[in-house]
Amino acid sequence: MARMAGVSLHQGEDPSTRDTDISDVTGMFAGLKSCPAGATSLMNAKVTSQHIDTCWVAEVRVEQRFHNSSGMLVHKMKKKKTYACGPDGNILDGKLAKKVKKGGDGLPVKRSESPPRNDIIRTAKAECVRNVKYKGGNGSTYVKRCEPTEGHIHVNFHPIGVLRTTVELKFLRTKYKWDMPWDKEIACKACGKPKGVLKPLLICNECGRVVHVRTCGGECGRCKKTICDSCAVKRKKIIKTSRLCGDCISSD
Ligand SMILES: [Zn+2]
Ligand SMILES: [Zn+2]
Ligand SMILES: [Zn+2]
Repeated sequence: MARMAGVSLHQGEDPSTRDTDISDVTGMFAGLKSCPAGATSLMNAKVTSQHIDTCWVAEVRVEQRFHNSSGMLVHKMKKKKTYACGPDGNILDGKLAKKVKKGGDGLPVKRSESPPRNDIIRTAKAECVRNVKYKGGNGSTYVKRCEPTEGHIHVNFHPIGVLRTTVELKFLRTKYKWDMPWDKEIACKACGKPKGVLKPLLICNECGRVVHVRTCGGECGRCKKTICDSCAVKRKKIIKTSRLCGDCISSD
């Protein structure tokens, strides 16, 4: 129709993603060790897609009476719990759980998706189970394990829409895909493990890979350029192994 009316159409960036704040992600990568080019000057970040994920708030009510073998009431269990679950059913904690419990991004969700019932039942069982001490008719003390059964765990699920924003970050010839708000930790491109505590990462200034500073990369022993182990030329000295970059090895 546009063509018939003489209007030319072209596909450009999705205008709805233009104002998305991605500073949480870019800030995280900007803090990585990078030499001689700073992380920010190597970074090319853009939003590639947005999608509404269905998360869940699960309101759980557990009510069960436990008796011993002679019918004596041992324990009355009465508990209420509220859980937040992610799109794949995993139980959330911290900031994300708070966000979901507060209604997420207030976006419409598909009703057809089924809530993560089994995971919630399993968690509620594990969190409610008690070993209860009681005195029997003969005056002896006994312990009964009181674990609620599925029929006594009532769950109300509320679907919650959370916006997932996929950001693509490019450093030199290496790409990173980041899903906000789900991805939490940057993983090393060499060993695949997350950053972890006390395990700083660097950006290789030859290929752009993000790797662990001590175990999967380092600095060029001569010019201090940050390099990953697959770009570094390793040279064994008598005591230690030194890494050199391509520039330093060729001017040797
Ligand atoms: Zn690593
Ligand atoms: Zn490299
Ligand atoms: Zn060098």
